[in-house]
Amino acid sequence: MPRPFKYQYVTARPSPSGRRRRRRRCYNAPREDKPEMNGLLRDLLDASGGHANGNAEQAAPAPAKALAWARVSTDMQDERGLSIPEQMREIRLYAAKHDISIVDEFREAVSAFHNQKRRLEFQRMLARARSDRGVSIILVHDFSRFCRDSAEARFLIQDLRKAGVRVVSLNDPEFDSETVAGVFMEAITHAKNEAYSREVAFHTRKGCRANVQTRDLETGWCYKNGGQPLWGYRGERLLRGEERGGRPIFKSIWVLDDAIVAGRAMHEWARYWLVTLAGGGATLAELRDFCNQKGIPGRRNPFWGLSTVNAILQPSVLLQYCGFGVWNVHRKNGQERPPEEWVVVENAHPALITEDQARAVAAARQRNSQTKKFDTGFGKSRNSTYLLSGGLFKCSRCGANMTGFRTESGYYYVCGSQPYRKGMGCGPGVYVPQAQVEAEVISGLKGLVDVCVDPKRFTRKVNEEVRRIWEASAAVDPHADQKIQAIDKKIGNIRRAVEEGLEDANWANVRLRELHAERKALAAAVTAVGQPPRLDAETVLRYGRQTEKLFSQGEPAERKRLLRTWVQAITFVPEELEVKINYRVPESVMNGLVAGVGFEPTTFGL
Ligand SMILES: [Zn+2]
Repeated sequence: MPRPFKYQYVTARPSPSGRRRRRRRCYNAPREDKPEMNGLLRDLLDASGGHANGNAEQAAPAPAKALAWARVSTDMQDERGLSIPEQMREIRLYAAKHDISIVDEFREAVSAFHNQKRRLEFQRMLARARSDRGVSIILVHDFSRFCRDSAEARFLIQDLRKAGVRVVSLNDPEFDSETVAGVFMEAITHAKNEAYSREVAFHTRKGCRANVQTRDLETGWCYKNGGQPLWGYRGERLLRGEERGGRPIFKSIWVLDDAIVAGRAMHEWARYWLVTLAGGGATLAELRDFCNQKGIPGRRNPFWGLSTVNAILQPSVLLQYCGFGVWNVHRKNGQERPPEEWVVVENAHPALITEDQARAVAAARQRNSQTKKFDTGFGKSRNSTYLLSGGLFKCSRCGANMTGFRTESGYYYVCGSQPYRKGMGCGPGVYVPQAQVEAEVISGLKGLVDVCVDPKRFTRKVNEEVRRIWEASAAVDPHADQKIQAIDKKIGNIRRAVEEGLEDANWANVRLRELHAERKALAAAVTAVGQPPRLDAETVLRYGRQTEKLFSQGEPAERKRLLRTWVQAITFVPEELEVKINYRVPESVMNGLVAGVGFEPTTFGL
């Protein structure tokens, strides 16, 4: 039952949106031969109703400050690279030789296959480089340590250069990107690195493919490529010889997980859960609750949620519970590949259930989905009539998305922990009436757009705000112009003194050099960051009209998209019954203005 409540709405002032989002590049995976489809797999797929988806500037007198960056790839084919301590040692040597002082060191061990966003340490290093004005260099052992994708690397390096930070590689040729030769050198260096990276990726995949089909002579099980073992299994590392360099070669296999949890071995829980519960027709919610009640730890999160349960019941996973090794199911982006592309190996690890039991689980799943279409919300949020669902509105207590929820008394938003894991990991659910919170968000937005009735005032206000934020974020010295004028005056005075016969010419020269250096630094800082973005009244007006129109006539998906351009975040604080709404000035508006290009009214430049 929804709890009664009194909400407080907090509206934050507009702020310019974040950095421009870039398109991600995709590699085309090399084509592979299609193996014949496994009979059991076909049955499971059929039962599930088909394919399941679940430069440094001139060296200043003081040593230049640098960040050191080292990275290793954890992919097996790439182990021959230098270790992080070795990279760091070489970077420190280089820094000492070139009179560079390293102010901070960052390191990361990741797979080349990982998403850029997950490279947290790298992002932290970039943020430091951009925000710390003292830092003018990032030292890397070679550019491939910086970024494997050449387009991405060039973009980042250029972007950093604009921010006054040069990326220096110890083992790539140094190039002056202001010259024609330098531009070519840069392009060639990055292309070389990318070619290497693709080659590594290709061989790694080949290696992985071979690995899953290689049977360990001693145990009889096939090797695994890493990743978390299925629930009910644990990975076991086996020492299998050594490389030429003397480094040990480890291989891993899956064995039944015999850890005792709540009085039983984990693999017994998994078997019972699959055969008796899932095979007996238990719903996703019942399956989830069972684990949470028994105190069986979740896979990634402390508690089980519906998405985990759903993932376990997919054909590719049931197949693995029958002892089949299954590889190449998902693409890098998480999408499932067509089953013909999967690599399936028989008897790859101990079976937990029989093939008939797996068929029964798939059949029960199908019966459940026919009797009651279960809306887990997967992929539905885009067209949902809940305007704020899908990540805009979040629970501050646990960080989960607030999701649409209907009860007999009406439509609500509630922390996703409530419907998906019975509040586990959050707390008692508080139901926020949909109509009320949406009205509040829209009225706030209208308020923001309505100020456009007085476009001059609004524009001035926004521009003041934008300038303030821009100065803070770009760490611009707001008095740089005055300081440059003051220096010019001093330079003029010394010159005049020399002309008028000043005797200490030495002093004058030293002083002049100092002043020129100071002036140069100030001027460079000003040009490096450029001018703050500005809005013009006409565009804001036009934008405002379009916004209103779209809001009154748009499809839910359009309205949602529009909302996301104006609203940074909405958070719900259950303890205080408070909804915080942060608005922003859409980036498309700002960019359109700055570049002097008219924006697209219908698409809003999205
Ligand atoms: Zn929550």
